[in-house]
Amino acid sequence: MGHPAMRLHGMDQASERMAGEVFEYVRQRMAMDPAPLDGPRSPDELRAATGPMITPEGLGSERALAMFTDVLAPACISSDHPRYLAFVPTAPSEAATLFDLVVSASSIYGDWWIEGAGAIFAENETLRWLARSAGLPDDAGGVFVSGGTSGNLAALTTARQAWRRRHGRARPAAIACAPSAHSSIRLAAMVIDTPVVTVDPDERGRLTAGHLRRAIETAAAQGVDIYAVVATGGATNTGVVDDLAGVAEVAEACGAWLHVDAAYGGAALVSTVGRPLFAGIERADSFVVDPHKWLFAPFDCCALLYRNPALARAALTQHAEYLETLDATGEWNPADFAVHMTRRVRGLPLWFSVVAHGTDAYDRAVSRGLELARLAAQRISAHPELELVMEPELSVVLFRRAGWTAESYQAWSDRALADGLAFVVPTVYGGETLFRFCFVNPQTTVADIDAVLDSMTGPTDPASR
Ligand SMILES: *Cc1c(COP(=O)(O)O)cnc(C)c1O
Repeated sequence: MGHPAMRLHGMDQASERMAGEVFEYVRQRMAMDPAPLDGPRSPDELRAATGPMITPEGLGSERALAMFTDVLAPACISSDHPRYLAFVPTAPSEAATLFDLVVSASSIYGDWWIEGAGAIFAENETLRWLARSAGLPDDAGGVFVSGGTSGNLAALTTARQAWRRRHGRARPAAIACAPSAHSSIRLAAMVIDTPVVTVDPDERGRLTAGHLRRAIETAAAQGVDIYAVVATGGATNTGVVDDLAGVAEVAEACGAWLHVDAAYGGAALVSTVGRPLFAGIERADSFVVDPHKWLFAPFDCCALLYRNPALARAALTQHAEYLETLDATGEWNPADFAVHMTRRVRGLPLWFSVVAHGTDAYDRAVSRGLELARLAAQRISAHPELELVMEPELSVVLFRRAGWTAESYQAWSDRALADGLAFVVPTVYGGETLFRFCFVNPQTTVADIDAVLDSMTGPTDPASR
């Protein structure tokens, strides 16, 4: 029996059946509490389990969906599981997840005002909410890009172009950051072929005014200008926020662009509890925050904001014969503000959820992540076999299991995933292997934390099993 022909619009009986099946999958996935943790399999295992997938005749949507639900999805870890505490989890609201389907169904081209005006307007209002929460002026603006990596690249490219327009290309110019700056900063520097000056951090790993000033003086003595300073608003490994106010002072005094990489921690800007840690971010020339990390939006979504968007437009607008009519309009074209062109209106799931729930709900949900970190820290401190490495600033908790080797940490982590208990991976801090929790999911409970901590204690070393 042949499969129905490929249709684009109109919905016949077969399409209705397919819609029913797909919506039912979505409904069931969203109803699961918790979602299954699952885990990876090798390409050979997956090939054996799926059989041939891509065939001239097609398998039909029912079999394709079954292949996803039975084989492929279970070979992926659910990042929204409440005991997924590794890396930076995700925790999309139901509203945001559902609206992602609406975005998919709407075929909106998110690059030019003429095509996406309504959606871009909604995205820009959402960006304005984030810019305001940082204290940037109302004419700040930017674009939703795929992630912090892409946002950091666009911001640093803009910073360098702005510098070159003022100072030319003759003198070598570098960016400055602490060693705790995210790996994507070094990647961006490599892409735009710019040197990085690594500034000595303070004892908590922070970029501070004094060390930054000395690093800038040392660079100047060697004939190198610092054109951009990158401060981190929540180091991914520790959750520690750089001294943004002090750094802003020094950056301004030497005429450098201040970029704040708040991809993970910037969500705390909308939390009344977290906001004070970011004092000084209002002086940034640009910043990024990833709503797919801690603002309850699905992948992939990074808010990139510029104090003066005209500088980004001047640096990043693509010029081509087929685009000339667009350049002439003077309208707000999101294509012009990052290193990209075709773009899904990926800010809309966040927009829908914020409009539906209100900003107070965001304040509460982000604040809960901060609270969970404090509760975990208390329980770790109270435990004879566990040692807190530093008081959490945001929602990352670093701790040590007394007596364990790096192999023990890894063996525990592998077993916890295989057992469906939790996804927690070891990290390295100061050369030492440690455990690290990162909380973003407000549905994580203290019982979840206890279950994980309890499994780390007791007489058996997991590496010896
Ligand atoms: C996660 C993270 C990034 C990278 O963001 P992606 O969205 O994964 O590209 C950059 N900087 C910091 C501080 C991060 O935590």
